[in-house]
Amino acid sequence: MSADIRAVCFDLDGTLLRDDHVDGVVRAVADELAMRYPGVDAAALAEANENVWWDYWPAVGDAWMRGEVPGDEVPTEVWRRSLAQVGVTDATAATEAFELHTALEGNAFALYPEAMDVLAALRDRGIRTAVITNGPSGLQRSKLMAVDLAEGFDAVLVSGEVGIQKPDAAIFALAVERLGVSPGEALHIGDNQVADVGGARGAGLTAVWIDRNGAALASEPHHVVDDLRGLLPLV
Ligand SMILES: [Mg+2]
Repeated sequence: MSADIRAVCFDLDGTLLRDDHVDGVVRAVADELAMRYPGVDAAALAEANENVWWDYWPAVGDAWMRGEVPGDEVPTEVWRRSLAQVGVTDATAATEAFELHTALEGNAFALYPEAMDVLAALRDRGIRTAVITNGPSGLQRSKLMAVDLAEGFDAVLVSGEVGIQKPDAAIFALAVERLGVSPGEALHIGDNQVADVGGARGAGLTAVWIDRNGAALASEPHHVVDDLRGLLPLV
């Protein structure tokens, strides 16, 4: 129990929100497109999507995260390139794929089972809460809405809205300012060791790494927890 912590900041994807549905959604989109476009192999299209994403990401990832390009543009372009690799050059196919992806993904958004109880317990203790998430505004806000957390925090910082992304210390500074606490009074929890652990530490917050999958430690968190319940003894 620390009397010093007055606010807890959360990463969203992989921390509060399950991220284990991502591959399944891509495959479901590919399955549907394979039915709509004869001759397309669904497995090949899903694989192309993954490869294109990794190839294309370094050139556009930062701009997408900071809201410098429309949120729909990058994922639509990924589908356009993936479809071209399996021989579909129909101009509307990529838009169709992106819309399908958005719809199927929206149905799959879900919190980790302990999230709501932990948030309620923190609120009961008078702890202020925030989300600090990297991604485009529309997508990240739709996730919060889908899990009934649109109004669930004292502050929400989406990189695509503030034009700064984790691990930049400035986004953590903005979060603590909005929460009305000092960095030393705030804790940030996240699953990404660069964006969350490195970022929070660099900004003077207590950094907690949530390691749901038993990954290798590659950063210097102040604490490591298995799931969100591990936060409660720390505040
Ligand atoms: Mg994450």
